[in-house]
Amino acid sequence: MADWKSPNGITIECRQGDITDQRDIDVVVNAANAELRPGGGVAGAIHRAAGPGLAEECRALAPIRPGEAVITGAYDLPNKWVVHCLGPVYGRDEPSDRLLASCYRNALLLAEGKGSSSIAFPAISTGVFGYPVEPAAEVAIGTVLETVPRLSALRLVRFVLYSSSDLQIHEQVLKRLTAKLG
Ligand code: ADP
Repeated sequence: MADWKSPNGITIECRQGDITDQRDIDVVVNAANAELRPGGGVAGAIHRAAGPGLAEECRALAPIRPGEAVITGAYDLPNKWVVHCLGPVYGRDEPSDRLLASCYRNALLLAEGKGSSSIAFPAISTGVFGYPVEPAAEVAIGTVLETVPRLSALRLVRFVLYSSSDLQIHEQVLKRLTAKLG
């Protein structure tokens, strides 16, 4: 385990698991598509677990562009809110690192705006959108570390990785990026 606590008391942690099963978390993040439709991967799992009310609320908010995020209710998920982020398609939406960073920053600020105390992210863009996991983890964790000083309501940021190899990569990147921060 490679948890890290910021000087203002916010814990960043990496866990293996399913984004739809984060019962102790206020806000879960969806790796959405532009139309905010169910689809496959994380979006399919989130919409299946949330029920049809989520797709209905999403219809009025779509489409969104790469780097953007919107917030909705969580319906039958065990959470309060869902933030839907459209990550960049690797090799198409440029600059992919800045667009991916925007996803994480916007999601954190939306969660903070609702006064939420915890948020869980999947590894946005690393599935069908093709972003290699290690550089994606560097952007994801780097952006959270940059944004954390602006947060006060949020106390916990969790990265939820589906596979043990993705978990290992995120733990290593968290260790490396926080080593210089103390
Ligand atoms: P994108 O379209 O942004 O690439 P995907 O949903 O295809 O999003 O995948 C993003 C990442 O989430 C991938 O690493 C994938 O393995 C992982 N993933 C897929 N389903 C789940 C789930 N239920 N919980 C957590 N992570 C998941």
